[in-house]
Amino acid sequence: MAPGVIYLDHHATTPCAGAVVEAMAPLWSDHCGNPSSRSHRPGLEAAAAVELARSQIATALGVQASGVVFTSGATEANNLAIKGLAEAELRSGGPRRKLVCLSTEHRAVLDPLRYLAGHGFELITLQPRGDGLVDLELLEGALDENTLLLSVMAANNEIGVLQPLASIAELCQKRGIRLHCDGAQAVGHIPLLPGALGLDLLSFSGHKVYGPKGIGALVVDPAVTLMPQLHGGSQEGGLRAGTLPVPLIVGLAKALELALADQVERSQRLGDLRDALWHQCEQLGGVERNGAASPRLAHNLNVTVQGVDGAALHRALRRELAVSSGSACSSGEPSHVLQALGRSRQEAAASIRFGLGRGTSSADISQAGALLRHCVETLRRP
Ligand SMILES: *Cc1c(COP(=O)(O)O)cnc(C)c1O
Repeated sequence: MAPGVIYLDHHATTPCAGAVVEAMAPLWSDHCGNPSSRSHRPGLEAAAAVELARSQIATALGVQASGVVFTSGATEANNLAIKGLAEAELRSGGPRRKLVCLSTEHRAVLDPLRYLAGHGFELITLQPRGDGLVDLELLEGALDENTLLLSVMAANNEIGVLQPLASIAELCQKRGIRLHCDGAQAVGHIPLLPGALGLDLLSFSGHKVYGPKGIGALVVDPAVTLMPQLHGGSQEGGLRAGTLPVPLIVGLAKALELALADQVERSQRLGDLRDALWHQCEQLGGVERNGAASPRLAHNLNVTVQGVDGAALHRALRRELAVSSGSACSSGEPSHVLQALGRSRQEAAASIRFGLGRGTSSADISQAGALLRHCVETLRRP
């Protein structure tokens, strides 16, 4: 990370672990075969590296290797899950036309759903409770025999709250509804086994778990049929055309292995640091936490600072602190997630998302807290 700046924006992206960079290194040049070239050794070796990575990821998630489809990231995995399922329903002559989600989903879920809403499907967007968690009764009321898909993220990328996936899956199973989960912020950060939870489709991303950017995967239950959304080759069982990025795939498997190895220790340590940061926020007065205190990602804190202008606050912070007011993908608009929780546009803009990470030290947290105090006190002065 850039020296001199405390990086607390790990929900936007995480630094690639050194061991991941090392694992990828030989695959860029010395071992650069195309895994689809089955007629020579470099190609076969590349294919073997991909299949080893796939089975490592599958084992880590408790699924069959054939259910792991590599994509360019969680955005593409979400598109494949959502549009691929809708198209398969149309193709097979199935009757279901309703899609359901929470309004606090990431744009990489909301936008494909909205796209389908303009193409013959009906989209129901449910408001969460004030603490960001799903209202299970409201959800149950929205599900019926015409519902094809429910998409609910595991961990929110802004407020870190963890949705009750097992209870949600139960509601879906009773009605034959497919459940997709955007797990970009959860896989590698909390225990998450799609099979045990009853998830039909799970998306995740390399660069959110200390892996490389530009790689992710969709985990597909064997009972689910999808139509490909990229055409042009028979890779990934025909579900996703295009030459496989072997170094990134090997990097993803390594990153996941490392993330699962230190997951318990990391969330314990970061949870303590996050609590210390929240304590410093509380002492300022007029600082409110967004989202339920629990269940929540240990490395997430999201606060609204009363009595300051949001743009001025973020301008003051950014010289020394890398944080954000919302999703990196929302291009400056006040957070739709915070507004769904009842925050005004002004309050949403005067909010800070802290995302702690593997490299965050207790010195970083006390410095960040001191800087926040200085900026808030300066801005609140009449
Ligand atoms: C980062 C993120 C994405 C997008 O992932 P990419 O791999 O960058 O495409 C999707 N959903 C959530 C919840 C995210 O945090």
